[in-house]
Amino acid sequence: MIVLVINAGSSSLKYQLLKVSTGQVVAKGGAERIGLPNAFVKHMGMDRDPVTLNFELPNHKVAVEAVLKVLTSEDNGVIKSMDEIDAVGHRVVHGGESFSSSALITPEVKKAIKGVYDLAPLHNPPNMTGIEACEEAMPSVPQVAVFDTAFHQTMPSKAYMYALPYEIYEKHGVRRYGFHGTSHGYVAKRAAEMLNKPLEKLKLITCHLGNGSSIAAIKYGKCIDTSMGLTPLAGICMGTRSGDIDPAIVTFLMNKEKLDAKGIDDLLNKKSGVMGISGVSSDFRDLYAAAGEGNKRASLALDMFKYQCRKYIGAYSAALGGIDAVIFTAGIGENTYDIRRGACEGLDYMGIQIDPYKNSAVKGREAEISTDDSSVKVLVVPTNEELAIAQETAKVVGFKI
Ligand code: ADP
Repeated sequence: MIVLVINAGSSSLKYQLLKVSTGQVVAKGGAERIGLPNAFVKHMGMDRDPVTLNFELPNHKVAVEAVLKVLTSEDNGVIKSMDEIDAVGHRVVHGGESFSSSALITPEVKKAIKGVYDLAPLHNPPNMTGIEACEEAMPSVPQVAVFDTAFHQTMPSKAYMYALPYEIYEKHGVRRYGFHGTSHGYVAKRAAEMLNKPLEKLKLITCHLGNGSSIAAIKYGKCIDTSMGLTPLAGICMGTRSGDIDPAIVTFLMNKEKLDAKGIDDLLNKKSGVMGISGVSSDFRDLYAAAGEGNKRASLALDMFKYQCRKYIGAYSAALGGIDAVIFTAGIGENTYDIRRGACEGLDYMGIQIDPYKNSAVKGREAEISTDDSSVKVLVVPTNEELAIAQETAKVVGFKI
């Protein structure tokens, strides 16, 4: 079965074409600068060099048509016709409380996705544009929505409620939703396979550490808590996002710095995190380079990041009543041994012991990095959100993997 995975943003549309049974990526790329001058499609067919092709892309529908044209073209194509695409899986950021699993796109499903536009104003509208563009371009191919929030819908109310007036939740849906759910679910499943134990018998903490970072507590295959909240701003500090702060800082700074709602939103989302602390970069490679040259604020940013990860691991160990494994994934979690070391430092008393030699040798590949006698296993599992979306899509349309 071949699935086209689509991740549509406001002016871009990333794609991967995958063979679900083997996980093989047949092609991947993206249409960029949609609606802008000098638009193009960057495309890479399996075992071939990437190519950049100029197109006029006035809207997402034309962008989907351009992608289909490239996928089936004589020069760069990987399939003979678009009839070879069995289904399309769409990444949709917010499913609100309506979706605890992926869904076949129907008029009702589209209405429900539109109903939570307020909760993800930057993401859900372009995601929907991608869905509608594919519906028009491929009317006979089933479309599936895979939500970033769905995996976290199993959280109990004591974990997802904020202690605000209850009516705020009822009126506006203000609660913890959590994000990166496709990734947390995928690495938890892979971890169970690596440990050779059923997921339903494991207590796991998954640390998705990338530009955006979130940590989840997974009990017997179900998420019971996660660090992101109503929006992806909550939790540990991130590239440019503050993570958890005293909520009173918001009004305090609005007064002191004369900021309006957009101003404070920008400050917390775009100017904070390790970028704001270091003044150097949101990229951890730059932070390590600067810290190596003696930049104290870069070192502080790294220390804060590790410390906050460690606090969440401690908290979620309590929430789970003990843990079997801690899993690191995403750009930082997969590649940066020092963050993994720091996040687990001093947790020997909880049975978490990282082997420094194994840890420092692992970059971007699956591995167990705990000592042989560590009672809690520590794993690195590269995430693969596109494959997870393709697998979910296959499941929804009834294809057995
Ligand atoms: P996102 O998907 O959220 O945009 P990623 O998961 O790609 O982000 O993670 C981006 C982060 O991962 C950056 O801060 C970057 O420093 C870090 N990263 C990526 N590759 C490496 C690497 N090889 N070594 C160290 N850090 C890396």
